[in-house]
Amino acid sequence: MCIFQPNHCPQCACNSAHVEYDSRTGNYRITCSRCGRREGHESVLDVDGFYCGFRHEVGQGFGVLFFRYIGGHEFYSCCLNTPTQLVEAEAWLRDALRSETVDPETASLTKWDDEDRCIVVVLGERIDLLAGRIVRRSGVPGRCRALQSRRSQADQRTMR
Ligand SMILES: [Zn+2]
Repeated sequence: MCIFQPNHCPQCACNSAHVEYDSRTGNYRITCSRCGRREGHESVLDVDGFYCGFRHEVGQGFGVLFFRYIGGHEFYSCCLNTPTQLVEAEAWLRDALRSETVDPETASLTKWDDEDRCIVVVLGERIDLLAGRIVRRSGVPGRCRALQSRRSQADQRTMR
């Protein structure tokens, strides 16, 4: 799999779309790390494994949640696909910051303002990483993770 970067995003007009291209199948997936727009192209095979068409999907981006778990090495970039996910991501990030699950220096939540056609920072500060591994995800990360770790921390406190 080859990775081409940077790439122009038709939604937010930034050169921050990430392309994953599979030269064997011709399938590709584009995710914008600024606005969260997604585009996917996939060959459809019949039961015998022969090409019988393709599936092409475009999903508007509603924002991006970017963070690193405290003690973790990779960064997570989660594109948000619905207005509900944006609301959930904000609650998740506030909770994760409060429970010190994520690094406050690098965490941010940005949303796509469809009326003004621009990106608005909801929480934190958007940083541009020059190095480091980024894990790309779709949707809000395991919503319970922050709550669970907080709960286990609380359990540890009560055990002491
Ligand atoms: Zn974009």
